[in-house]
Amino acid sequence: MHWLRTLAAASIAGLLYACTTPPVMAPAPPAPPVEQRAPVTILIGIDGFRPDYLDRGVTPVLSQLAAQGVRATMRPSFPTKTFPNFYTLVTGKRPDRHGIVGNRFEDPARPGERFTLASDQPYWWDQAEPLWTAAEKAGVQTAVMFWPGSGVEIGGTRPHDWQAFGMAVSGRQRVDAIIDWLRRPAATRPKLLGLYFDTVDTAGHHHGPHDPGTNAAVAEVDALIGRLTSELAALGQPANLVFVADHGMAAVDESRRIQLDTIAAASDFRTVEEGPYAAIEPQPGREAALAAALLKPHPNMECWRRADVPARLHYGRNPRTPSFLCLARIGWTITTRPAREPLRPGGAHGYDPAAPEMAALFLAHGPAFASGVTLPPFDNIHVAPLLRRLAGVPQAQAVDGDAAMLAPALKR
Ligand code: AMP
Ligand code: ZN
Ligand code: ZN
Repeated sequence: MHWLRTLAAASIAGLLYACTTPPVMAPAPPAPPVEQRAPVTILIGIDGFRPDYLDRGVTPVLSQLAAQGVRATMRPSFPTKTFPNFYTLVTGKRPDRHGIVGNRFEDPARPGERFTLASDQPYWWDQAEPLWTAAEKAGVQTAVMFWPGSGVEIGGTRPHDWQAFGMAVSGRQRVDAIIDWLRRPAATRPKLLGLYFDTVDTAGHHHGPHDPGTNAAVAEVDALIGRLTSELAALGQPANLVFVADHGMAAVDESRRIQLDTIAAASDFRTVEEGPYAAIEPQPGREAALAAALLKPHPNMECWRRADVPARLHYGRNPRTPSFLCLARIGWTITTRPAREPLRPGGAHGYDPAAPEMAALFLAHGPAFASGVTLPPFDNIHVAPLLRRLAGVPQAQAVDGDAAMLAPALKR
């Protein structure tokens, strides 16, 4: 039995050895080299985001990016509406020059037609070259998630990647689209990207700028930016992030209503746009009567003929601008709707760009940007030239803005 005991002991010893000694393995293959990604530029438009929304204690992500980057109160262009300003932000031209002179407008060269948010014929957009068109022409690949105009073939070109606008596409899906585009191999990966969120504007209209409902929408977008930055970090993708809003938001209500058809005879005019400003066309043969009614002083609004719009508004040279422009005092609404239909309390924009309520967010963060800087207020025409400089896109057309104005935003 001795030999049996010896054999058992040897087996247990062998087993113990196998458990405690690492197996002999072939040498591990060398780890694939970690790709050093070059920084990309991402322009993020948050519709209707006032700069003071950053100071409400509901934006931990954006506030931290601001503390580590650059922040400013940006002056929008007139009219302080969505499409004119988002197009200024990517062209560097004021609305009067880029041709998207409102969310709704007419063109004497296209009688019977009207531009609306759904107008995707290049004709309307062709008076300026957006950033993505210039970039594609220069060989810089672009991908844009919902910027106004990004689905239109402007100058014969669209962004390399784009999607037809749909409000039902969630913020999370929008962020994930950007990340998916950046997962591509370097050769087919975009270098300049655009991303757009509409929910802060929608909440601002619905609740007004000072309501918890609007703060909740702001907090939601902040969380989406948190998702974007953590996914970028997980990819090892450095990015210069430029956050912009198109305009701010002012509180409005029924008590501040300007009933246009009690000022001028309803049979003398028609309106193309109503609200914080009115775009007004005379009925045939009624121009003199309309001018007499509109061009006198009014307590809460001021009206001009196209040619006499004050220079500070940079508006009225484009034939698409209205024959008569009336601009309400902040918080007031110009309307022809019947008195039995009261205005819903909430928020609106379209007022004078100099009004503090119309100010728009500017925030930039990334390897190209200075840290902990607050810039003095500046006009939104300078953003597109800055983005061209960041993304290495040449400036082919003369524009209103100048990248030098934002040089203090850049790391020395
Ligand atoms: P506004 O009337 O100036 O407040 O316009 C804001 C609205 O424009 C948002 O609520 C969106 O629904 C809409 N919008 C934004 N981008 C686009 C787009 N690319 N195409 C169509 N509508 C858009
Ligand atoms: Zn807007
Ligand atoms: Zn709006």
